[in-house]
Amino acid sequence: MEAGQLVFSIRQCGNAGCRFRFPAAGSGERCPQCGSDTAVVATPHTKRDTDTPHPPTDLHLELLLDNIRSLYNVGSIFRTADGAGVKHLHLAGMTATPEHPKLAKTALGADSQMGWSYSRNGVDTAVRLQNQGYRLWALEDAPEAVSLYSVKRGVGDGLGDGRPLLLVVGNENVGVDPAILQRCEQILAIPMLGVKDSLNVAVACGIAVYHLLFGN
Ligand SMILES: [Zn+2]
Repeated sequence: MEAGQLVFSIRQCGNAGCRFRFPAAGSGERCPQCGSDTAVVATPHTKRDTDTPHPPTDLHLELLLDNIRSLYNVGSIFRTADGAGVKHLHLAGMTATPEHPKLAKTALGADSQMGWSYSRNGVDTAVRLQNQGYRLWALEDAPEAVSLYSVKRGVGDGLGDGRPLLLVVGNENVGVDPAILQRCEQILAIPMLGVKDSLNVAVACGIAVYHLLFGN
């Protein structure tokens, strides 16, 4: 825990008819629900030591964030990519870069750790990297897509053969650019069982990145 950081504890309302349980940094907090006295009932667990090694991943994964409209989605993807060990973020089109002052707020520092580059045309970027030998895949609920969970690393899909993978994530409204989709070797979709037919793009990207890097 860093110096100067607030120390939180878990407090619980002493009113037996309420029992509201919540984290709080102060002492002597009143119950926000009923106003009764509360008491400390637990202290948060200590976080995993950041020096503890995590399992290595043999996949070199980079992302192309093409025309992501929301700053919050871009910032969230920076955090996830940094945490999962994505090697580089290619930003294109309307996707904001860390030079945007508001992006730093949602990226929470990950924007200064993660290598990134920007181009105005995402198709040009995809073509250039594919010509350099990258495997080009997209995350998109297209008719020809296969389930993300059908990807078996190092088996049929060849992940782990040393070839870098560029996973393309597209615009919140129109999805991945058709000119990129038609060049993709594989299109991945995340199973959707609910009433909504798509996930938030940053959530979907996080699920895909962690599966590709650490799944199977
Ligand atoms: Zn209460």
